[in-house]
Amino acid sequence: MVHLEKLEFESMTNHDLDPIAAAVAHNEHYAQAHGAMDLPTEPSKHLAIVTCMDSRLDLFGALGLHLGEAHIIRNAGGIATDDVVRSLILSQRLLGTDRIMVIHHSRCGLEGLDEQALRASIANDTGTESTVVFGGFTDVFADVRKTMDRLSSDPALQSVEVKGFVFDVDQGALLPVERS
Ligand SMILES: [Zn+2]
Repeated sequence: MVHLEKLEFESMTNHDLDPIAAAVAHNEHYAQAHGAMDLPTEPSKHLAIVTCMDSRLDLFGALGLHLGEAHIIRNAGGIATDDVVRSLILSQRLLGTDRIMVIHHSRCGLEGLDEQALRASIANDTGTESTVVFGGFTDVFADVRKTMDRLSSDPALQSVEVKGFVFDVDQGALLPVERS
C-alpha cells in the first residue's frame, strides 16, 4: 500500500499564477515527495469506480483509497456512456477489476438540466445543432439505478458486482442506493 501524505505548500502558493501554471509549479514539489515507485498497472483492490467529474468529489480521501488501488472513471454525471463501458471492459478483461461502484452525488450540475435550452443556446451561438446527449436527470437516486442497470445488462461486461451510491457533497457521506 502506498500512501502519499497530503502535501501542504501554502507558503508557496502563488495566487498570481494562472491555474495551469500553479498546477505545474505544485507538481515539482509533488514529484519530489513522490519519489520512484513501481506500482503494477492492475489496481490492487480490483475495484472500478464510475463517478462524476464534480470538483467536490475527492474519492481518494472520501473512500480511503491510495495510488494503485482502483480505477476511477469520471464524466459529467458519472453516467454509463459507451466510453465508460469501453473503459470498464478494459478494466475488467485486461487489468483484473471484478467489482464496480457507481457514485453520483447531490447538487450535481446535471440535476434538472434543461437539455433543450442547452441545445438551443449552442445552436444560437454556433449555427450548428449539437447531437450530444448530455444526460440530465431529475432524481439522482433513480439515475444511479439507471446507471447500475445499464452496466449490469451490458453483455460485454462480465457479471461482476455493481453497487450504487449517492455522495452528499455537503456532508461528505456516502448513501447506498438499492437496486430497483
Ligand atoms: Zn455531478
